[in-house]
Amino acid sequence: MNIEQELMTRSGSKCELCASTDGLSVLEVSPSDGCVQKSILVCTMCKEQIEDKDKMDANHWHCLNDSMWSEEDAVKVVAYRMLTRIANERWPQDLLDMLYLEDDVKAWAEAGLADENREPTRDSNGSILEAGDSVSVIKDLVVKGAGFTAKQGTTVKNIHLVPGNPEQIEGRVNGTKIVLLSCYLKKL
Ligand SMILES: [Zn+2]
Repeated sequence: MNIEQELMTRSGSKCELCASTDGLSVLEVSPSDGCVQKSILVCTMCKEQIEDKDKMDANHWHCLNDSMWSEEDAVKVVAYRMLTRIANERWPQDLLDMLYLEDDVKAWAEAGLADENREPTRDSNGSILEAGDSVSVIKDLVVKGAGFTAKQGTTVKNIHLVPGNPEQIEGRVNGTKIVLLSCYLKKL
């Protein structure tokens, strides 16, 4: 059985958060190793709101009244994260207070929240840059300490993000690993 089939069986072919049967798909609960215990089955509406904070509709999440009691840690982790988000928007916090997580499950839930709150690194157009992306330099940049200029149009492949600093990325230009300001780059 693949993960989707296993989750269909586990959930009775329903969204594990709100019990809808609409557009079910697998959601890996980050940080995930892709195994079935770290995945849940979700409907279109839940998935959209989990993945995009701006689409959040607190009313939808009354469903957590039931699903937070799931026996599946992955479901509880998502419930915890969504309740935390909603609590930030001043929805009653009592559900969050009632949700009990074992220490390791709570650590998992919070690891994902930290990721969520991380500011993304963006290029000059506002596109989000990820590790491994290729970018193009949009204006000549003097590289301090390296003694050369990264010319406009230079391609930098396989960039690295700088943890905690969305203004910068690291990459190799002329064979030298340098730090570049993300505002002078364009994602390719
Ligand atoms: Zn749902």
